[in-house]
Amino acid sequence: MGHGGDDRSGAGAPRVVIIGGGFGGLFAARALRRSPVSVTLIDRAQHHLFQPLLYQCATGILSEGQISSPLREVLARHRNVECVMAEVTGLDAERRVVRTRRPLGDELDIGYDYLIVAAGVRQSYFGHDEFAALAPGMKTIADALTIRRRVFGAFEMAETAADAAERQRWLTFALVGAGPTGVELAGQIRELATRTLRREFRNIRPEMARVLLFDGGAAPLASFGERLSGIAARTLDGLGVELHMSTVVTDIDRDGLEARAKDGSTTRHRAGVVLWTAGVEAPPVAAAVAAATGAATDRCGRIAVGDDLTIAGHPEIFVVGDLLSLHKLPGMAEVAMQSGHHAGRQIGRAVAGQPAAAPFRYRDLGSAAYISRGKAVLSAGPLRLSGFAGWVAWLFIHIAFLTGYRNRVGAILTWWVAFTRDDRRERAFTTAQVGIMDDVYDRPPPAGGAGPAKR
Ligand SMILES: Cc1cc2nc3c(=O)[nH]c(=O)nc-3n(C[C@H](O)[C@H](O)[C@H](O)COP(=O)(O)OP(=O)(O)OC[C@H]3O[C@@H](n4cnc5c(N)ncnc54)[C@H](O)[C@@H]3O)c2cc1C
Repeated sequence: MGHGGDDRSGAGAPRVVIIGGGFGGLFAARALRRSPVSVTLIDRAQHHLFQPLLYQCATGILSEGQISSPLREVLARHRNVECVMAEVTGLDAERRVVRTRRPLGDELDIGYDYLIVAAGVRQSYFGHDEFAALAPGMKTIADALTIRRRVFGAFEMAETAADAAERQRWLTFALVGAGPTGVELAGQIRELATRTLRREFRNIRPEMARVLLFDGGAAPLASFGERLSGIAARTLDGLGVELHMSTVVTDIDRDGLEARAKDGSTTRHRAGVVLWTAGVEAPPVAAAVAAATGAATDRCGRIAVGDDLTIAGHPEIFVVGDLLSLHKLPGMAEVAMQSGHHAGRQIGRAVAGQPAAAPFRYRDLGSAAYISRGKAVLSAGPLRLSGFAGWVAWLFIHIAFLTGYRNRVGAILTWWVAFTRDDRRERAFTTAQVGIMDDVYDRPPPAGGAGPAKR
């Protein structure tokens, strides 16, 4: 690999740079396996992450290692692929150079003949970026581990709380956004409170934990259609999740949040933990790509592409996965896999001097959401499954798609133990780690009450 946009060593072969090793980037790299090209996959993380199981990592069932695989390991047999750990910061589309920042902050330019932008999306706070520290979203392993510490940390704080009001506040979990991730987290927190932690504390009753789920829409899991959405609402209600639908969260602070209902009334809810899964937006690298190429972007900053997945006027630049804006395709793993594969094949054909493949067509394989043990909903074509049947289907899909044989076996064994014994092994943290939770724990002593709390 060369600095300053130089040719990569051993080159001569066309250079393909892929930004992002998520589903889109990984499937693009795999599709180029037999092509005479030299691929550089750049990611700021050293791993490929299976985002659909992040919530199980966040709630102590699976470890971070079980839902991720080192990119180098995944692509070890792809002899034409090189992995670079760096953050892409800019693009010079004229010189065909990608600007990156290496882990210690120095810059590295990488030249390309073809570029595949597969950088995904990040959590959006709808202009309230100050909410991010108070209410983490769930997009990365770091997010999941922060959530895990806050959720289990809240029970620890409740156990030694000075008074009943403070105890109840720590035992209240507020979740913003009732899409699949919010629903999955809500179900898991009630489950761990009523099952896993039930016998472990002496001063609190974990099962008294309240889980409040807020959404501006009328029902949870609205994208699954009215029937499954209704089933999800009833299942959550049965689990003890308190649904606050048609309610918009207007403010979040260290004490909880404020929400406005449809009738305009505003209510304050005290909560020890607030989590945010309400929206997504394109990361800064998308704006850099759009500025360098003149590409149009949509409301969320996703990059407009044609049916061949390239940016207008730049047949050498492809956008795939969550970041592409085309026919309102949803941000789903299958879209990323199929578009990544398509972009890789297109480049392979171009390099081989073959005519371009047919335009990209997404084959919708459906979607599934886990609500609680033994209960999930699945929507695929005309098929609608819920309850136990939905859960079995969910299980098979996630095992089939989890990256890496070891992760699959590990997840099956862990789920077996977790489901039969309510066991969650992944919850080790110490008081030394509360530094990571500064915004929650590092609060000034209550007014007039200096000194340690007494019980
Ligand atoms: C919690 C959660 C649950 C989900 N559940 C489901 C589900 O059940 N079913 C489903 O179909 N989909 C689900 N999804 C959506 C699915 O995971 C995404 O659609 C898919 O991961 C998109 O793939 P991608 O390759 O476009 O982006 P990503 O998987 O997000 O990958 C983007 C990669 O780019 C890297 N990157 C970003 N910016 C830069 C930069 N500037 N420089 C270098 N690297 C960069 C990131 O580190 C990352 O590795 C879920 C998503 C989340 C967050």
